[in-house]
Amino acid sequence: MKPAKDVIDRSGLGKRFWEKKPLDKLSQKEWEALCDGCGKCCLNKLEDEESGEVALTRVACRLLDDESCRCCQYPIRHQFVPECIVLKPDNLDTHAYWMPETCAYRLLWQGNPLPEWHPLLTGTPDSVHEAGVSVRGWTVSEFEISEDEWEDHIIEEPT
Ligand code: SF4
Ligand code: SF4
Repeated sequence: MKPAKDVIDRSGLGKRFWEKKPLDKLSQKEWEALCDGCGKCCLNKLEDEESGEVALTRVACRLLDDESCRCCQYPIRHQFVPECIVLKPDNLDTHAYWMPETCAYRLLWQGNPLPEWHPLLTGTPDSVHEAGVSVRGWTVSEFEISEDEWEDHIIEEPT
């Protein structure tokens, strides 16, 4: 079967560039290429105000496509979801605590290697879904579940 087309342009990048440069020295293209397309950062979370503990739910942002695991309006998403975070090297310190455990940005920020199923290593975005670490096929939209019911949809992160 032909590999799926990658919506992220990972062409022409240096071999294992993420191991050779610090995150704040990456070009915009290299930075974008780090995203594995798992979709897990687009799931709603619940944060305990006292303990700071973050629980993941299967309730997805209204713009997440559950099949491709991508934002269906990425370039203009802030028109619909103004609170969507623009992750950058200089705000990773603030956000890493709630990012998924397998998120490439979080892993590199922690000094860990990329997982073997990462598209930069496999050459195909399919490997993320095949490894069972994406949200494909098991989310529910926030249109269907009111916020006071999110607690009933808490899940363990697939890793
Ligand atoms: S969790 Fe990280 S790697 Fe996965 S889609 Fe979000 S930004 Fe990309
Ligand atoms: S707006 Fe798009 S990128 Fe932001 S959380 Fe929603 S689906 Fe994800």
